[in-house]
Amino acid sequence: MSNIFAQIAEWLAQAQHAVAFTGAGISTESGIPDFRSPGGVWSRFQPVLYDEFMASAAARQEYWRQKSLAHVEFAAAVPNAGHQVLARWQSRARLAGMITQNIDGLHQLAGSDPVWELHGTAREIVCQDCNWRTAAGPLVEEFVATETVPLCQACGSDRTKHATISFGQALDQRVLEGAMTLATDSDLFFAIGSSLVVQPAASLPQLAASAGGRLVIINREATPLDDLAAAVVRQPIGEALTAIDAALADVL
Ligand code: NAD
Ligand code: ZN
Repeated sequence: MSNIFAQIAEWLAQAQHAVAFTGAGISTESGIPDFRSPGGVWSRFQPVLYDEFMASAAARQEYWRQKSLAHVEFAAAVPNAGHQVLARWQSRARLAGMITQNIDGLHQLAGSDPVWELHGTAREIVCQDCNWRTAAGPLVEEFVATETVPLCQACGSDRTKHATISFGQALDQRVLEGAMTLATDSDLFFAIGSSLVVQPAASLPQLAASAGGRLVIINREATPLDDLAAAVVRQPIGEALTAIDAALADVL
């Protein structure tokens, strides 16, 4: 077959257990900068490490200051064509699972459910002392208005934090194991919009490939795992997924 999209669509049509894994690259078309983009939140701030957050009120103040600025970028963003194609595939059982490194919640807004969020979600706040959870929006507004770290409404602690994995914080084992099982069981694994250098998340495509699954990488830049892939697509993600989706309609 001459066309790479038609080839991938055919693999997807035949797959019994296709899985998609996404990184920051799928959300750049929604206006959220990826890790490396100049001007992105990640390049502007020195992140607060988890231990510092837990130990110091000043660190918690700085954490909330940074996160409240970043929240503006997330809150205004809407899912793009790439998120929408994946949500459609999942709802039609073309995809057996969705895994993401993103914390922006855009897959869920597009309709994907469930989504294994390896790095948690910026759309919720969780108390580090009692695990009380709430939507992030109102507490971010409270911080912006008062410049005071919002207190947990269950136990009164000021160790309230976005439900994301901070630098120096361990991943949620249950989520990691769920994602690893999906990867191991997959016969077709899409790695989309990730530089595939952050561990342990980058090990998922490796796990899929070594268990015999076909790996498809969609990413603008080369990745360290390109040699393992059955196909590498270097086009913009929204465009590439839309083209595969259109080709899928022809083979089904
Ligand atoms: P990364 O920034 O390391 O890699 C993103 C990759 O996507 C890059 O290789 C880039 O070339 C590619 N890319 C960007 N836009 C693209 C497009 N439109 N089409 C094709 N390719 C495109 O991302 P990562 O591997 O996910 O690691 C970043 C870390 O930072 C993760 O841990 C993540 O949790 C966090 N992060 C999350 C968000 C978010 O939630 N949206 C944003 C930035 C960073
Ligand atoms: Zn609490």
